[in-house]
Amino acid sequence: MEKEYRVLLYYQYVPIEGAEEFAQQHLKLCVDLGLKGRILVADEGINGTVSGTVEQTEKYKAALRNDPRFEDMVFKEDEADENAFKKMHVRYRKELVTLRLEDDIDPRKVTGNYLSPKEFYEQMQAPNTVVIDARNDYEYDLGHFQGAVRPDITSFRELPEWIRNNKEQFENKKILTYCTGGVRCEKFSGWLLNEGFEDVGQLHGGIVTYGKDPEIKGKLWNGQCYVFDERISVPINQVEHVIVGKDHFTGEPCERYVNCGNPECNKKIIVSEENEHFYLRGCTHECRVHPRNRYIEEHGLTEEEVKDRLQKVEKERVSQG
Ligand SMILES: [Zn+2]
Repeated sequence: MEKEYRVLLYYQYVPIEGAEEFAQQHLKLCVDLGLKGRILVADEGINGTVSGTVEQTEKYKAALRNDPRFEDMVFKEDEADENAFKKMHVRYRKELVTLRLEDDIDPRKVTGNYLSPKEFYEQMQAPNTVVIDARNDYEYDLGHFQGAVRPDITSFRELPEWIRNNKEQFENKKILTYCTGGVRCEKFSGWLLNEGFEDVGQLHGGIVTYGKDPEIKGKLWNGQCYVFDERISVPINQVEHVIVGKDHFTGEPCERYVNCGNPECNKKIIVSEENEHFYLRGCTHECRVHPRNRYIEEHGLTEEEVKDRLQKVEKERVSQG
């Protein structure tokens, strides 16, 4: 049965004049339509995820495509039981994706070859090919293409430096890149070409499009795809589900992300419900005993109860050696 809500993921690199003002008007449009979501507007384009009822999202799509700048906009759509956001934000940023390059990349001028899901699937298995995940480490850890390289980065702007430091892995190879919806790869693959890599392909429409391809069915994808809304992850591989996520504390297979209870840490950790309780949602001892630990606040634990729990954690650590 069809679900009542839709989640739209989309982007377009296109010059937007008066982008700051456009962002304000666009917010009004979204609020008037009753949408929820997060949209970035930059001089170089727009990138957003919004959710709403089928009717609301259809109206939004029509409104965007009515603007000549966005008439070719590709929307990736998911069905949902409810909104994927609580609020509606439209923010102006200098860049659509934060790379902070010395020479910025205009993907409309330089970008890697666009590969359909089928082309990507075939080329990723070809010899002398290296697949680079253009996302952050915590996204990779929940799911990724089999055999893809995991850059050791926590934000996209660290990626160019990481590539330069690990260059020998990629020299004289065919490079394929992918990200969630494609917006990061447009720039990253262009940057790779500018860096002197000659054979660079990008997964057009990103992982979420790959997962919907009726022929490929998400094959060679392991785990789940991290998304930046309240769903946290979406399934991709329709044929088999291989869990690659590992519980932060025990290493057991797990696909559940929470933010560390220490608001100053806030690190994303994969953890089972059971271990979240046991470890007071703290990724380290320091985070567990932090005076503003959100888990302790939410559960109204007394000092005595916290002390008791910490003792159990200590015992567990000792028994694990
Ligand atoms: Zn922490």
